Amino acid sequence: MSYPLPENEARRLDALRRYNILDSLGEAAYDDITKLAAHICEVPIALVSLVDSDRQWFKSHHGLAVSETPRELAFCAHAILQPTEVMVVKDAAADQRFSTNPLVTGELGIRFYAGAPLVTHGGEAVGTLCVIDRQPRELDPQQTEALRVLSRQVVSLLELRRLLAREERNAEMQQTKIDYLSAIGAAAQDLKVFLDRDYVCRYANETYLRYWRKRRDQVVGKHVAEMMGEATFTEKLKPLLDRALAGEEVELEMPFDFPGVGKRQVAVGYAPAYNGAGVAIGVVGRIHDIHHLKQVEEQLQASVVRLEKNVVQQQQFIHILSHDLREPANTIVNFSTLMLDEHAPQLDADAQKFLRFIAAGGKRMKLLLDDLLIYTRMEKAEEGQSEVALDEMMEEVVADLGDMIARYRATVAFSGLPTVRGQRSRLRLLLQNLVANGIKFHRPDILPTVHVEAVPHVALWDLRVADNGIGIEAQHLENIFKIFTRLHSRHRFEGTGIGLAICQKIAEAHGGKIWAESVVGQGTVFHVPLLPSYSY
Ligand code: ADP
Repeated sequence: MSYPLPENEARRLDALRRYNILDSLGEAAYDDITKLAAHICEVPIALVSLVDSDRQWFKSHHGLAVSETPRELAFCAHAILQPTEVMVVKDAAADQRFSTNPLVTGELGIRFYAGAPLVTHGGEAVGTLCVIDRQPRELDPQQTEALRVLSRQVVSLLELRRLLAREERNAEMQQTKIDYLSAIGAAAQDLKVFLDRDYVCRYANETYLRYWRKRRDQVVGKHVAEMMGEATFTEKLKPLLDRALAGEEVELEMPFDFPGVGKRQVAVGYAPAYNGAGVAIGVVGRIHDIHHLKQVEEQLQASVVRLEKNVVQQQQFIHILSHDLREPANTIVNFSTLMLDEHAPQLDADAQKFLRFIAAGGKRMKLLLDDLLIYTRMEKAEEGQSEVALDEMMEEVVADLGDMIARYRATVAFSGLPTVRGQRSRLRLLLQNLVANGIKFHRPDILPTVHVEAVPHVALWDLRVADNGIGIEAQHLENIFKIFTRLHSRHRFEGTGIGLAICQKIAEAHGGKIWAESVVGQGTVFHVPLLPSYSY
């Protein structure tokens, strides 16, 4: 046996499913309607039947102890074909659609059927309110109309059920949201609070309650003045909250004495909270405990001060020492030289040799002290900046290094050097050191050549001092700028290991960093970035 399908069957089933009513428990409201329908129509049986894909299921049944039947037996499966009509079968035995239906021929013996479709707002007939009798009969127009009215009441009940379910779902979601919020709030390290436009607290997280040692009901729903005292509210907090309500994000640091954790330095932030229409509905307050941060900062600050003091003391010590040692060093050099010059004939060869060692050692000592003095001076107050014409400066440097250039038969080339902005005497020292090193660290078989040039690089001049000397291995390219670093014995190359440390200080004082690139056996290029003269 088959049953007819309405045109909108898929939509109809969808609508039915949305009510989520199939196989639900009985409800008095539906039962009352079926009872009323049976009573009005004067029949023993009335049903609220919902036509599912393969069955009709009765939400309510009066006078019939059956909860569902297969769809192919259902009279209602026919009634739903005409959603606007009440289908009336006066005598099923005489109707060819139903005359062989077991519900008619069998024990149940149905003869009369009238079904008013349950039509949703979308026009889908999801079932019927039907009345049934075991004998043929008719409905008068009032009864038919009453059946129609009651069927509409059933649909209202169904709609109500759907809306209620939706509300419940929303409430559930709302609850979940609140649960999330409190979970986030509880896990947060910051104190968080939401105050509405009337300065009444609407939300406070766990941390907030812990710091203030309060229960939620002592905070939420309370006015700020009530929690913090009238004076604190009016004088301190209200002005800040009002600024936030006016749209400003207010940030400040202040000490707080929290009953829960004691005195704390905190960073407070008040930000406006807006509703969907862009209206400020309150203020979100965030209090970040920076107590530990402050402590660390203070410790750090104290360490820096201590360190700075140490450094200054050390430098003063080195300065005084090198200054005071110059005198005895001079004495050693002067007298040992004098002895060699004036009394050499009276001295034997060994004594002369020892005196020469003393004189050379004294000279080295003087050199070291000179360099140390310069180095410590670099730490002191900065020299004023001025325009420095590097071309002219290089001429002075070449003149100063005249002896050395002649001794090593060196070539020092430069031309077209720019005017830069810098500290005159320090830049001169830098050039002198770099050019001198370029000559000193020459290869044994090659006459030293030093090129000084300046190449524009972004907004700077890249001052380059390039030589054709022994070069520096890559692993030492950084170390060489550390004080007292020397890569060779003093028998091979004289020096104190201070020159490049001085150069680094000078480069740093000019806002940059000296660096070198080199090919061992070919030469080295030192780079110093300098500001152009027009950059004020
Ligand atoms: P000093 O020249 O007094 O030894 P510096 O601080 O000027 O000290 O240089 C440190 C070391 O770097 C030198 O001892 C040398 O080994 C290396 N160095 C410096 N300049 C050059 C250069 N132009 N070529 C090769 N090596 C160099």
